[in-house]
Amino acid sequence: MILILHPDTNKADADYSKLMDYLSSLPNIRISTHEVTGTTQTLTELYLIGDTSGLDENMIGNFEVVDRIVRISREYRILGRHKRDDRPSHFEYNGVKFGQDNLNVFAGLCAVDTAENVEVIMKALQTHGLQCTRMGVYKPRTSPYSFQGRGKECLPYVFELAGKYDIKVVAMEITRDAHIEEIHQALEASGKPTGVMLQIGTRNTQNFELLKSVGRQKIFPILLKRGFGITLEESLNAAEYLASEGNRNVIFCLRGMKTNYGDPHRNIVDFAHVPVVKRLTRMPVCIDPSHSVGVRSASSDNILDVFHATAQGVIAGANMVLADFHPNPGKALVDGPQALHMDELPWFLQDIQLARSAYEKRCELQRRQTEK
Ligand code: PEP
Ligand code: MN
Repeated sequence: MILILHPDTNKADADYSKLMDYLSSLPNIRISTHEVTGTTQTLTELYLIGDTSGLDENMIGNFEVVDRIVRISREYRILGRHKRDDRPSHFEYNGVKFGQDNLNVFAGLCAVDTAENVEVIMKALQTHGLQCTRMGVYKPRTSPYSFQGRGKECLPYVFELAGKYDIKVVAMEITRDAHIEEIHQALEASGKPTGVMLQIGTRNTQNFELLKSVGRQKIFPILLKRGFGITLEESLNAAEYLASEGNRNVIFCLRGMKTNYGDPHRNIVDFAHVPVVKRLTRMPVCIDPSHSVGVRSASSDNILDVFHATAQGVIAGANMVLADFHPNPGKALVDGPQALHMDELPWFLQDIQLARSAYEKRCELQRRQTEK
């Protein structure tokens, strides 16, 4: 059960103490307190954990400080969508809104290689009105002999160039908790010209100690990739790990599932799960067509499979697109074969816009159907 207290409830007030005294007296119930800081107010939510079936909702609702009570019906206590649950499903970070009702495009390098390439990308993003990018710095690779990413040495120029081209959010994967501090320090040292979204890759979806460390920090929002060989439920529980440690600014990313049934694509595209994740949780849902499809093939319509997969996710209501681009894919140190070319960026964006307006029209059609 979640008790949502009136906005800006003061913990020093007698009414707050009265409620806490009562709750503490309940047998076998543990209270976990969460502060949710929005743009205009701070909300306190009290999670009552244990056997809550016998609790008297009317009695609890009568305490002055209690605004609303949400009965938790599913496993994902914090990020889940529960009955009569009208808590917001969006957050803002560095001036950019992330929600279940809007769409952000993160185009960029799978892996940072040179400052020149970072600059080419960021300049193009600014030209086309984008404020977010992806820049892989720490790369988890299948082979120990493959390029492992530039690591912290590239952070200063990545951040400086992001600032120069007005990029507000840079998504980058981290593979261990020390990377959080490295990123934090590099951002501070460069005067915070941009923001960072910490990405947890598919190989680490169930690295519970990493999830706990990333969830404990509240500075950066988190992009959690779905595990490529586990159930959706297991991946959603991984997201809940982040929130249970305190950070609920989590975006869930579908990136395809590993199976030979997906051949000749790198993974089998799982974007039919966009509405499923939006129904089960309040997280915005990202799609990664580059790692799902993994190749630059096109059919007789000459539209790349990566474009088709993107459109499939967006027309189903995806809230974020993460896509690999490279100024010279033949020379890319990681995932060149799936990277889109810079001259494809405006086309890609227009294609996404088409799919997004089709999605909005579908929502409108649905509204008209239910009004009948
Ligand atoms: C990536 O986005 O660079 C990446 C490695 O993705 P994934 O973890 O989904 O394989
Ligand atoms: Mn990659």
